[in-house]
Amino acid sequence: MFSLFSSLISPHAYLESEVIEMYIRDISAALEKHSTKKYSRRSLRNITSLTIHHSGTEGGSAQSFASYHVNRLGWPGIGYHYVISHDGTIVKTNSADTVSYHAGQANRFSIGICLTGDFTSGKPGYSQWTALKELCRKLSSDFSISDNRILGHREQPGAATICPGFDVAVLRQQLGESLFFRIGKGDRGAGVIRLQKKLMAAGINPGQIDGIFGPLTETALKKFQSSAGIIPDGVYVSTTNEALRAARRTLREQIPMQRGYDVLIVQQTTHVKQDGIFGPQTAASVKGYQRSRRLTPDGIVGSKTWIYIINGWR
Ligand SMILES: [Zn+2]
Repeated sequence: MFSLFSSLISPHAYLESEVIEMYIRDISAALEKHSTKKYSRRSLRNITSLTIHHSGTEGGSAQSFASYHVNRLGWPGIGYHYVISHDGTIVKTNSADTVSYHAGQANRFSIGICLTGDFTSGKPGYSQWTALKELCRKLSSDFSISDNRILGHREQPGAATICPGFDVAVLRQQLGESLFFRIGKGDRGAGVIRLQKKLMAAGINPGQIDGIFGPLTETALKKFQSSAGIIPDGVYVSTTNEALRAARRTLREQIPMQRGYDVLIVQQTTHVKQDGIFGPQTAASVKGYQRSRRLTPDGIVGSKTWIYIINGWR
């Protein structure tokens, strides 16, 4: 039997995240174990770090990793504490007090989280990435772990590996940003680019998408705030972010054709003629874009495709 629990997380803690529900299935009891060997246990007080891994394989599952660790490597059980699939499903594979094998010297004090996939080239997709962030938030809250103790396997002491392939600094930055972001005049960077794209997606022209919060971005933001019934202070915080998300249309090929800045940003992103009118060519380019990102290639820009467009995920 699987024990099942779900936690519904307050949206206020996840300002820039789009999914707020997280389910974790505990399958630890059902996974293959060594007939005689046992992992040692630790006090939960000793947990001070999270270690992020990738499986280094395109496919696989907690069951297949457990089988490999036990039968091929002769370990007492699966090495990881959690496994996250491509679709964002999280399973718990060891209790937190298990000192399992996954990160050498860091085994004693860390919890091992494995993303199924090979990220030496390419990055985790949206669902998997979001699940990872939410799991990290939950565990860092449960065990009072600060963001700078969330490390890639290769960043742990004594590790000689490229695992997990991608740069975990990006994860730490997003975990920090999402709690405290406040963007205004003079700011620059990725957060400003996301704001500019979100303004376009809400049908307002912020000028060039250049990552610089100048007068045009400020005017556009104030215009949006006024239209959404928010005090037009030209400062981008969580309330405005929620309103920007709510203001996005679903774009699709239809009669009459949809027009606007939101169509324009879709055309810019999917590299098709930029006329601001959603016709058959735009629908076809959206399908190609979706296919290359493993999204359902339906040619419709709904909430999930919008998230990819805004975040610039490849
Ligand atoms: Zn690893």
